[in-house]
Amino acid sequence: LTVPGEKPRKGKLVVSGVTISNPDKVLWPAADGKPAITKAELVRYYEMAAERILPHVADRPVSIIRAPEGITGEKFFQRHAMPGSNPRLKLIDVKERKPYVGVSDVGGLVAIGQSGGLELHPWGCKPDDPETPEQVTFDLDPDEGLDFDDVIDAAKMVRRELEGLGLTPFVKTTGGKGLHVVVPIRADAKARVEWDQCKAFAKEVSEIMRRAHPDRFTTTLAKKARGGKIFLDYLRNGRMATAVAPWSPRARPGAGIAFPLSWGQVRKGLDPKAYTLHDAAALLRKADPWKDFRAAEANLRPVLKKLEL
Ligand code: ATP
Ligand code: MN
Ligand code: MN
Repeated sequence: LTVPGEKPRKGKLVVSGVTISNPDKVLWPAADGKPAITKAELVRYYEMAAERILPHVADRPVSIIRAPEGITGEKFFQRHAMPGSNPRLKLIDVKERKPYVGVSDVGGLVAIGQSGGLELHPWGCKPDDPETPEQVTFDLDPDEGLDFDDVIDAAKMVRRELEGLGLTPFVKTTGGKGLHVVVPIRADAKARVEWDQCKAFAKEVSEIMRRAHPDRFTTTLAKKARGGKIFLDYLRNGRMATAVAPWSPRARPGAGIAFPLSWGQVRKGLDPKAYTLHDAAALLRKADPWKDFRAAEANLRPVLKKLEL
C-alpha cells in the first residue's frame, strides 16, 4: 500500500501514499453488537471504494463533513481549503467565491479520511464546470414514523414519472432515513441547462407527484406540513446545493453508507440499514448497479419544453 518514494514514518500507516496519523482513532464507537470503526478502516474503505466514488465526486466542489474526534465529537462542514489542508486535495474555482475543495484521485479521498472527513457532499455539476448541472436529485424525506415500505413505494412512483418523461432514474440509500432518486443529464453544449432550469424541473416533477398523490407527498419544507407524508426535497438542485455522494459513509450511528441500488432491490422489505461500513467489503464485491449512470444521460431541454418550463 505504500507509494514508491514515500517513506512510511515509524509506527504510521500509509494508504495510497497518504500517511495516516492516529490510525486507531475510533470514529464510529462500537454499538448494537457491532465493533468500533477506526480511521484506518475508514481510509481503507475510501481506497477500496475509490473506483466507484470518484466518477461521481472527482473535480466537483465538495463539502466534507469532518468529525476528527469521531461521530460523537464536534462535526463541521469544510468547503474551502484550510491551513494544513493536504496537497492531494485540489482547489476548484467557483465564480464570486473562494475556491472550493475538491478531489481528483484515490490519494485525495484517502487524504479526506486522514483529516477525519466522514461524508462527501459534491455539487451536482459537471467535472471542472461548477456552472453546469449534470444530474437531478430527488431527495425523498419521509416524516418520522413512516414505514420504509412507504418510501420504497414513493421512490418507485417517482421513477415511473421520470421514465414517462424519457429519463433514466437511479436510486440510492442515503445512509439515513430516506432514498435519493437521481437522473443523469447531458452537460454538453447542445443539451446543457442552467441551474435554475435544473431546479425548476425538479420542482415541477415534485409538484406533479404531490398533485397526483396529495396524501403521500408534500413539497413544503416546513416539518409540520409533513404529517405522515414524504417531503419531496427538490432544493438539492440549485447552484451550490449538494447531495451526499454515492458510496459516501455517514457520520451517524450505524456507520451507514449512501449506497447505490438496482431498482430490483427497491422492494418491500428492503432494509437501508443493511448498507454499512461493517459490510462494505462484501457489498463492493457485487456488481455496480450504477455502472451505466453516465451512459444513461438524457437531454433535459425537450423535457423542459414539454413541461412548459
Ligand atoms: P436522509 O435520508 O436522512 O434525509 P439525506 O442525506 O438525504 O439523508 P437531508 O437532510 O435530506 O439528508 O439532506 C439532503 C442533502 O442536502 C444532504 O445529503 C446534504 O448534501 C445537503 N444538506 C442538508 N443539510 C445541509 C446543511 N445544513 N448544509 C449543507 N448541506 C446540507
Ligand atoms: Mn433526505
Ligand atoms: Mn432533504
